[in-house]
Amino acid sequence: MENLKNKYGIIADYHTHTVYSHGKGTVEQNVIKAVELGLKTIAITDHGPHHFIFGVSEENLIKQASEVRALRDKYPDVNILTGVEANIKGLSGEYDIREDIRHELDIVLCGFHKPVWSDKMSDYFKLFYNSYSKALYKPTKIQIEKNTRAYVKLIQKQPIDIISHINYHLKVNVCEVAKAAADYGVAIEVSTRHDDCTKADYEELFASNCMITVNSDAHKVESIGEIGRALEVLNEYNVDPKRVINSSFCHYDFKCKNKLNLSH
Ligand SMILES: [Zn+2]
Ligand SMILES: [Zn+2]
Repeated sequence: MENLKNKYGIIADYHTHTVYSHGKGTVEQNVIKAVELGLKTIAITDHGPHHFIFGVSEENLIKQASEVRALRDKYPDVNILTGVEANIKGLSGEYDIREDIRHELDIVLCGFHKPVWSDKMSDYFKLFYNSYSKALYKPTKIQIEKNTRAYVKLIQKQPIDIISHINYHLKVNVCEVAKAAADYGVAIEVSTRHDDCTKADYEELFASNCMITVNSDAHKVESIGEIGRALEVLNEYNVDPKRVINSSFCHYDFKCKNKLNLSH
């Protein structure tokens, strides 16, 4: 695994949870682990406010952002990004981060999670209805088309940086989502924790021009930096390290991206 980490020049983990949602570690414990691993960057990305079991409140998101700013002085060897893993809330591509809060954050991931509330619950239920269980039932072609449109709208409308764990509980046409992601400078996560792509999905993803990211989605401190399965996938499909935003071969600045996206 160290060989693959070196091949891909992995220097960052952009998806970690803390006690602010349902992670086990504090923000500082996650940061210390990143320093121990020699990572150059770690992002703190707890579940967005509308996840009604584990979501971080808007108030705590602001608090967490200031906690991160304070830790930057204490741990100058690592870049600490303050962020969130937001929730897509409906077929129209809405998400659960207010614009003023978005300005406080360095990085925003967004994915589909099941227990989410929305001010327009009927919108969310349309999305929820389209979700699937790998073990029990498969989505129809029409459902996949609707999900795909929802993700494309999300990418077009919201200032997000990364689509987290694509296809997890909500199957999409990966080719179309990846095309939109490439057009809007959004990276797609190859997840170690939720590997829900078929061979055909991966072929479509890597045939596109979108940026890729590999993250641990760690919910406990020991799991930070664990991206073994995702790296095996990149290696299997011979993905160029230059398009992997966690890589030292890729030059990518979330703050620039943030400004770029907000101008859409
Ligand atoms: Zn998630
Ligand atoms: Zn997560």
